[in-house]
Amino acid sequence: MPDQKPDLVIKGGTVLDETGRRSADVAVADGVIVEVAESIDAGSAAVLDAGGCLVTPGLVDLHVHLREPGREEAETIETGARAAALGGFTAVLAMPNTEPAIDSVAVAREVLDKGRDAVIDVYSSGSITVGRKGEQLSPMAELAALGIRVFTDDGSGVQDDRLMRRALEYASGLGVTMAQHCEVEALSKGGHMHEGAWSSRLGIAGIPAEAEELMVMRDIALSRLTGAPVHFQHLSTAGSVALVRQAKADGANVTAEACPHHFTLTAAEVASYDPVFKVNPPLRESADVAAIKAGLADGTIDAIATDHAPHTQETKEAPFDEAPCGMLGLETALGLGMTELGLPIERLLALMSWQPAAISGIRDAHGGPVQEGRPANLVVVDPDATWVVDAYRLSSKSRNTPYAGRTLTGRARHTICNGEAVVIDGEAQR
Ligand SMILES: [Zn+2]
Repeated sequence: MPDQKPDLVIKGGTVLDETGRRSADVAVADGVIVEVAESIDAGSAAVLDAGGCLVTPGLVDLHVHLREPGREEAETIETGARAAALGGFTAVLAMPNTEPAIDSVAVAREVLDKGRDAVIDVYSSGSITVGRKGEQLSPMAELAALGIRVFTDDGSGVQDDRLMRRALEYASGLGVTMAQHCEVEALSKGGHMHEGAWSSRLGIAGIPAEAEELMVMRDIALSRLTGAPVHFQHLSTAGSVALVRQAKADGANVTAEACPHHFTLTAAEVASYDPVFKVNPPLRESADVAAIKAGLADGTIDAIATDHAPHTQETKEAPFDEAPCGMLGLETALGLGMTELGLPIERLLALMSWQPAAISGIRDAHGGPVQEGRPANLVVVDPDATWVVDAYRLSSKSRNTPYAGRTLTGRARHTICNGEAVVIDGEAQR
């Protein structure tokens, strides 16, 4: 029996983490798991029913755009974090392509401070270069001193080979990870969708798969040269998956993520000319979708990341060529993973919780085993809940989901962050 009286007990579920699964109740007090046992007497504690559900470490999304500062009309740290909680996430890593970019201690502090009031844990990445312009390295040591563990110019890749080499050398010394949005701009410039049969048919300028693959290739080489880890963001092509698979077989220090839209949608969707399907990297071909799924299944790809990218209706109503890139992702990722991938649930949760937590450097608080003494960051997943995506019922400030009307099976029922039940029975509590 624990010494401390629990304030919350999760009852009747199957606990599942990287150590395996067992039937157990989970008791929480003061933000910490205090007991995991077969039948816990709740006493006066609040009870969350987990019957028929999995009790697992909270999901971790290492790629979200929260739009604050600068584009608060599309999303804020507060609303993005709430959408994440509803999706089963207890931690998100905010990308630095805000306005201004997260390239200084002042902006990083602002994001982290606002994050402290959010319903889940909001971590920040820092940009690799000042203003994400690809010209001059950001003050990485100062940002690392604030606790920033991941650097990226996401939205763009670092084009200059020599600058990227120097960034990786600094990263080695600081013990941080460089994450790359792989896109050679000389090849992608002017493109609005994947270059292939559909772009020719629709008369829309294309972005070839090679624009991504050349940078994946370069960064595998630079990681080898410097010994520094590289994390590949939102891989979208069969060629990229093959490159990472081979690099890992050769012992390279690389990790990779893929997004739900790249394992569920193809360039054929663009035939509607609906900008909701405009995203970067673009939706590719069915062979690429198959390769991403295979990479997720065989361990080539380490994490599912949403690349949650809210945009106001106004901007997404522009003609396809003029509309901004990006889709919502936080509230649909778990359901899409459970419905579309056909993976054992243990494998899916590894991709959505403990592995992204490790890449983000936050395993002290997220993604760890469900055991006494660990912070209570948990999600109760109902694997049988069937629901239909309704853009107007999503919690995000924006509406740009490409999945409206799609039926999914599997949903977060309760989300517990630092011991607080922030989502109960699918409803946000604050
Ligand atoms: Zn990106």
